[in-house]
Amino acid sequence: MKIGFIGLGNMGAPMAANLAAAGHDVTGFDLVAPCPNGVSMAASAAEAAAGREIVITMLPNGALLQSVAAEIIALMDKGAGFIDCSTVDVESARKVAAQATAAGLLAVDAPVSGGIGGASGGTLTFMAGGTEQSFAMAAPLFDIMGQKAVHCGPSGNGQAAKICNNMILGITMIGTCEAFALADKLGLDRGKMFDVVSTSSGYSWTMNAYCPAPGVGPTSPADNDYKPGFAADLMLKDLRLSQTAAEAVDAATPLGQHATDLYKSFVEDEDGSGRDFSAMLPRFEKLGRD
Ligand code: NAD
Repeated sequence: MKIGFIGLGNMGAPMAANLAAAGHDVTGFDLVAPCPNGVSMAASAAEAAAGREIVITMLPNGALLQSVAAEIIALMDKGAGFIDCSTVDVESARKVAAQATAAGLLAVDAPVSGGIGGASGGTLTFMAGGTEQSFAMAAPLFDIMGQKAVHCGPSGNGQAAKICNNMILGITMIGTCEAFALADKLGLDRGKMFDVVSTSSGYSWTMNAYCPAPGVGPTSPADNDYKPGFAADLMLKDLRLSQTAAEAVDAATPLGQHATDLYKSFVEDEDGSGRDFSAMLPRFEKLGRD
């Protein structure tokens, strides 16, 4: 298929390269990023999108998605697919999908989990919102770029699933880290703590698969000096999106709000920026109750 790919950063570049390696004709555009393997570069988003059967966007936020969408939707052929894989606010996702649908396009919001490793290895999970027909259009590409795609309902529901998942992830990581810091002060060995919790009712993905304590459990960013992995900055972004969405629909998310506040302090006032989101553990280690 003739595919346009706009936004070739840490995630977009390997995703575009995987589509090209699978035999698709991929034309990319980015404001600054270099050309990924197998992809030919266009001079603008408009050039990357015009005449393509499917256009994929992988951009930093909803405002940029909206500006790129405004530039390309009118240039795309009726019946073409518009798949946004960025993590953005639900409102932007629904607005762009409505504009695309009104122009006769098949729109899907399909944020991902799996990070840069998943993007390179073609093992991402896609959470998709859109019609059955739109999802069916996108599904063969999800199969190339990922290992699983879930159709979550109408437009915006992919983003809803993503921010709910990552709100749980942020809250759980904080809980896991504060429990390790407490265990330290109680004289409980971290390895013993892992052995108990990972097989007891406190188990979680953050403990069992992504343990924030170095040298404990499976290899994780904690074993690599907390280099991301999944950066605390991106966790803060996703937590903020969860709170914007919660405000919009009047949902009570007290722990989501508290997790947002903690990651905000960590990233903006402390040394969290550029570190993995599990570096909350060394942060808690240094703190007392005040
Ligand atoms: P990134 O900053 O590395 O890449 C974004 C790219 O978009 C940049 O290269 C930038 O130059 C380009 N861009 C910005 N405005 C543009 C425009 N108008 N036209 C063309 N290109 C433009 O970010 P990333 O890590 O690749 O993340 C992309 C999206 O994926 C984000 O929404 C992020 O939240 C989400 N995400 C990231 C991860 C991760 O681990 N990095 C995991 C899951 C989801």
